[in-house]
Amino acid sequence: MKITDVRARLVRAHPERTWVFVEIDTDEGITGVGEATNSGGGGAILIARAIEILRNDLPNTDFSDGLVGQDPSHIERIWQNTYRRFTALGSRGLATAALSGIDSALWDIKGKALGKPVYDLLGGPVRDTVPLYTHVGHADDPVAAAREARELVDEGFKALKTDPYAATMRSLHRRYMSGRISAEGASLGVDVMTAIREEVGPDIELMIDAHGNFDVPTAIDMCNRMNPIHLTWFEEPCQPESIDALREVREHTDVPLCVGERMYTRFDFLPVLQQRLVNYIMPDICWTGGITEIRKIASLAETYYVPVTPHDASGPFNVIAGAHVMMNTPNFYRLEMATAGMDAYNACLTEPLDIREGELHLPDRPGLGYELDLDFVESHPDPDWVALGGG
Ligand code: MG
Repeated sequence: MKITDVRARLVRAHPERTWVFVEIDTDEGITGVGEATNSGGGGAILIARAIEILRNDLPNTDFSDGLVGQDPSHIERIWQNTYRRFTALGSRGLATAALSGIDSALWDIKGKALGKPVYDLLGGPVRDTVPLYTHVGHADDPVAAAREARELVDEGFKALKTDPYAATMRSLHRRYMSGRISAEGASLGVDVMTAIREEVGPDIELMIDAHGNFDVPTAIDMCNRMNPIHLTWFEEPCQPESIDALREVREHTDVPLCVGERMYTRFDFLPVLQQRLVNYIMPDICWTGGITEIRKIASLAETYYVPVTPHDASGPFNVIAGAHVMMNTPNFYRLEMATAGMDAYNACLTEPLDIREGELHLPDRPGLGYELDLDFVESHPDPDWVALGGG
């Protein structure tokens, strides 16, 4: 089998998000689908451009390993060559994002060619369903947050995450400067989490996502104020670059910690695991290197008895690809899923996701088991991508 085409589709299915789907065609009529969605800042367009460059050999360059013409079953070879191709640029970040979409599409092709679900190719299931956690979106008002948490629990969700500092800090997520929070913002965070905990009771698992918005002393203070809430984890207390900052937070709080959405490949995760800096790791299958890489990261974490809980701020193939790997991963906690985007997820698919009582049930169809609804995705292109001449 040979790869005949590779393309990125930038789809505006959700009012706040552009999703990047990757399709790989073959000379045997099988098309694989993956996802390489990023999170704002124009990243989607950069990734789409990178995938264009990876598609073909370009004239007058010293590269001779474009994807068109390669055997799509050689997934590990393609992963290694693509990752190392950008070694001077920095292989982690843009390169792993593009590679993530390509890798998952190659696994989809392999499953379709062999007539087996991807989780079967990985060694077969260790569980029958994939437990999820989802988000409380109205985190700037304790009453609204508690009401939304109750609705999600009534739907069957047993684990909920929110950013109770969003009203104060959200605008700083891509404009980080000092990492400080106002006294009012810090108090509101406690009020929101207290209201949610009182509403859902002690048996629902609660997590906070701080989105890396704090400096070290602020992060320690915010963590320790949450002691009475009995969090499952406090996520990304500081920006992701400094492992020393994470260690300092770790040494000054008993609140469980989780990081990993902005860590790329097993090489980033190893020191965090070795130094026991977090209780959970949350690699993003669309950012860290696809099915091939998240599986290796999960295996690495297994040797430290640390649970893996894949991150999702993307579209439906993030969840689907992550679910296939987690079907096969013993040290799995829960898969993140942004239910606020559920209607948009299903609009992009020819078959809806099967979610019951807070758990995802994967089909036993070959490959990843889902197809893009081309009528929908072609009629909802990302407007910036169109304006720049893509699509
Ligand atoms: Mg997060």
